[in-house]
Amino acid sequence: MTQNLTILGSTGTIGINTLDVVARHPDRYRVFALTGHGQIDALAGQCRQFLPQYAVVPDQERAARLADLLTGLDIRILTGVSGLEQVAADPAVDSVMCAIVGAAGLAPALAAARAGKRILLANKETLVMAGHLFMQAVADGGATLLPIDSEHNAIFQSLPANYSGEPHRSGVRRIWLTASGGPFRNRPVEELPAVTPEEACAHPNWVMGRKISVDSATMMNKGLEVIEARWLFDVAAEQIEVVIHPQSVIHSMVDYLDGSVIAELGNPDMRTPIAHALAWPERIASGVSPLDLVGKNLTFEQPDLQRFPCLALAFEALAEGGMFATALNAANEEAVAAFLDRQIRFDQIASVNAEVMRCAARTPARDLDDLIEADRQARRQAGERIQLLSRPT
Ligand code: NAD
Ligand code: MG
Repeated sequence: MTQNLTILGSTGTIGINTLDVVARHPDRYRVFALTGHGQIDALAGQCRQFLPQYAVVPDQERAARLADLLTGLDIRILTGVSGLEQVAADPAVDSVMCAIVGAAGLAPALAAARAGKRILLANKETLVMAGHLFMQAVADGGATLLPIDSEHNAIFQSLPANYSGEPHRSGVRRIWLTASGGPFRNRPVEELPAVTPEEACAHPNWVMGRKISVDSATMMNKGLEVIEARWLFDVAAEQIEVVIHPQSVIHSMVDYLDGSVIAELGNPDMRTPIAHALAWPERIASGVSPLDLVGKNLTFEQPDLQRFPCLALAFEALAEGGMFATALNAANEEAVAAFLDRQIRFDQIASVNAEVMRCAARTPARDLDDLIEADRQARRQAGERIQLLSRPT
């Protein structure tokens, strides 16, 4: 049967990779809606190729530009968060790829969860910001949640097919998240304050959007993934280990009580987890070349928390609970944007994150409004610190 698919954030790296896989299987997938924020020309090109019923852009001005580019085509254009929520929850939609970057991805992902969709979740910030509420919405809405993040997709594949969300019942001892270590794994620590956005975005193994590339360089990305794993698989922080594996061939592992360790391996290409989640429980071709292990050296190292303080912050957020993770996520988005804008130094991302996170409430959120307020407050505090740091001395 053909699946009707909404791709939120179709103009991004994950969105483009999703369309690449979809284009290989026109009999299986029909694109229902595409959405983009800034790159209207790219969105128009995707619309011409995939002929969705809807396209969503942030505002009327960009809607008018897109409409101009799509003259003669029967594609309805919606705007804003309500447009994103509408195409995520439309009754005609089967699956929703959540590939918007940052906290902006939360509202439409929640709409898809409440509407009981099959959710392909790339937007890890949704789980970091609102893990409890989002998982509750998935359960209440009867949605199916399939992780796209390569590590979590690997864990999903390495857990038993009937995994109940209770690790001990399935004999799971630990989860191992692998990390490449990013572009600064071997850079002398004293040089880190001087690294540029260009260097931080040049990832050795993966081609990704700018925000997640910087997160990989600080290892905040792995920290966000620790929190993501806690919610997706209902594991305690003490059961999550991070190991640096620079080749990115093993995408993560599950360690069982009997001593077995089950892993998923492959070439580092996001089309593998995307194709896996699109077709699950079946398998389809993704365009990724087969893995050749001959001559490959797979190595493993302990992460250095001195070099990567952002990774330690994520474990601290889990230990503290309350609004810590929400605040950490918001502060980090602001700090990364300021670093990309050359307002603060690379090493200052971690200090902004730490200071803002430690001001967060220790009581858990009662509802979405609480989270949105915590997010707003953390962004305001981060903004103030960034201003102080970026002021010329
Ligand atoms: P990207 O920056 O390449 O693309 C982001 C997409 O979101 C674009 O389509 C953009 O138009 C849209 N967008 C940005 N701001 C928006 C806003 N305020 N409202 C609505 N749409 C907005 O990012 P990416 O690398 O594709 O990553 C997307 C998500 O997937 C992130 O959460 C990231 O952490 C996660 N992820 C990415 C990778 C990867 O390899 N790229 C791997 C794992 C997880
Ligand atoms: Mg990942």
